[in-house]
Amino acid sequence: MNNVLLQIPLDIPDVKIEKFTKDSQHQFVVTVTSTCKSAECRKCHKTIEKFYGYDKEITLRHLPIFATPVWIKIKPKRFQCPDCEGKPTTTQQCSWYDVSIPRNREEPVFLPTIKAKCIISTLLHLLRTTFYIDFH
Ligand SMILES: [Zn+2]
Repeated sequence: MNNVLLQIPLDIPDVKIEKFTKDSQHQFVVTVTSTCKSAECRKCHKTIEKFYGYDKEITLRHLPIFATPVWIKIKPKRFQCPDCEGKPTTTQQCSWYDVSIPRNREEPVFLPTIKAKCIISTLLHLLRTTFYIDFH
């Protein structure tokens, strides 16, 4: 049998893929590193660029590939503010996930986007079939 390779874009900004493996449950695990160069200070809200190491690794659920769950592992970067008292550190805020959402939950990180697309698609279908209004 030929080994056929398939490339699927991860579609996540500001990351570099380090590893692509399967875990003990045969689920895909993509380990990525952040390429973010700055964060917004949680106190003064200025852009800070002094790298201060990595936060604990977090695992986020991505969309499945061939009905197999996909998990993204990332260690978010931390940055230090040179201006605020006590030089506090701030963990980067990625544009593709919300740090306030609990970790390891079963809902994929992109689900709000998918829900929004489904709602728009349903509305367009409704307009087309019920009111005969079509958008091209
Ligand atoms: Zn600050």
